[in-house]
Amino acid sequence: MIEKDKQYIWHPFTQAFNAVDPLPIVRAEGIWLYEEGEKKYMDVNSSWWTINHGHGNPYLIKKISEQFSKIDHVIFAGVTHPIAVEAAERVVNYLPEQFSKVFFSDNGSTSVEVGLKMIYQYWYNKGESKKRFLAIEGAYHGDTFGAMSVGQRGFFNEPFEHLFFDVDFIPFPTDDNWQDVINQTRALFETKEFAGFIFEPLIQGAAGMRIYKAEWLDALIALAKEFDVLTIADEVMTGFYRTGTMFAINQIQQEPDIICLSKGITGGILPIGFTVATEAIFDAFLSEQTSKALLHGHSFTGNPMACAAICASLDLFEQGDSLKGVEMLTKSHLKFIEKYKDHPKIKDVKSIGTILSIEVEIGAETTYFAGIRQEAFAFFLENDLFLRPLGNIIFINPPYCITAEELEYTYDKIIEFLTERVR
Ligand SMILES: *Cc1c(COP(=O)(O)O)cnc(C)c1O
Repeated sequence: MIEKDKQYIWHPFTQAFNAVDPLPIVRAEGIWLYEEGEKKYMDVNSSWWTINHGHGNPYLIKKISEQFSKIDHVIFAGVTHPIAVEAAERVVNYLPEQFSKVFFSDNGSTSVEVGLKMIYQYWYNKGESKKRFLAIEGAYHGDTFGAMSVGQRGFFNEPFEHLFFDVDFIPFPTDDNWQDVINQTRALFETKEFAGFIFEPLIQGAAGMRIYKAEWLDALIALAKEFDVLTIADEVMTGFYRTGTMFAINQIQQEPDIICLSKGITGGILPIGFTVATEAIFDAFLSEQTSKALLHGHSFTGNPMACAAICASLDLFEQGDSLKGVEMLTKSHLKFIEKYKDHPKIKDVKSIGTILSIEVEIGAETTYFAGIRQEAFAFFLENDLFLRPLGNIIFINPPYCITAEELEYTYDKIIEFLTERVR
């Protein structure tokens, strides 16, 4: 399998020249990934932060197969179907009141592209020339061009930088700088050139699971409202209880105009993106002129199987077991922090809901390229854990079906690594 993989496959985020062999995974069930032979690994990063009820959930399988035998796939322009309507209605009903219309796409990046296009065209349709975007340093919103434009510039996207549109970045807010960040934002918005502001609410994922305070985000959104700047909450990673509440924005007071959802929306098992907008944004596209419509779409818009997975995943949350897992993870992480916050190899440790993020003391600045990343990954694999650090940030965001014992084991191995392997 590895030989054929090398012959035919180009892997994501991978320098094939010197990459170690990929793990040959042949089965996934619950929290476990099974390799060919005896070896198995606990999927404590939920397969790129997607899986939330666990792998191979029998209820999800049943509901998806039932849908498969009704409608496998159908065009979504000029057509609708029951499961797309149900998925949209149920997600909208879980969202704060201002959200009313769902636009479907295929993944997190496309849900962001759609949000950006909605905002640019909103102002265009209104005849206003607002063209700048605001984002936060370290942001990750996906790998398509618009999403890259509003993301952290540098190593990952340098070859394309000349193609990106105009974006200003404010520093990531911290206890020390947040007043400056607010002042800087006000000064930028006073130029009246800003169309929109995009952010990952309460926690930046790819930047290293960096958590920031709800009150700072509230202050930033309030400023955007004051200057008529539309806001996008990118909840691709945070949605569906990752931060303890169904959405991270349930923990703020202000009301964003657009929310992007993907990853966990299907229980993490099928690709789909939701961009949900307010009625006011939707209304700005209504006109006698077809050109004022959002002329955007994807072949797999509203895919019935993905929609069935969304509804089944919501059923599972409503039945309660997964929420017990969310609560257990939330409480256990807080206890872990209490117990280990003064560990000599822990520079900082924070949690939000089900995500625990540990900044490892490496005697140098925190970076994605910290050598400790490879060493930690190998150590955890030896100990049956599939745990991929982001540089010197060791974090876990497990499926909600993890047991208290499995979680304790994971904590123990993290502490063992910190104590015995970090110099
Ligand atoms: C993963 C992620 C994306 C991109 O989603 P893809 O499905 O990988 O394209 C966008 N925004 C955030 C916050 C993410 O974590």
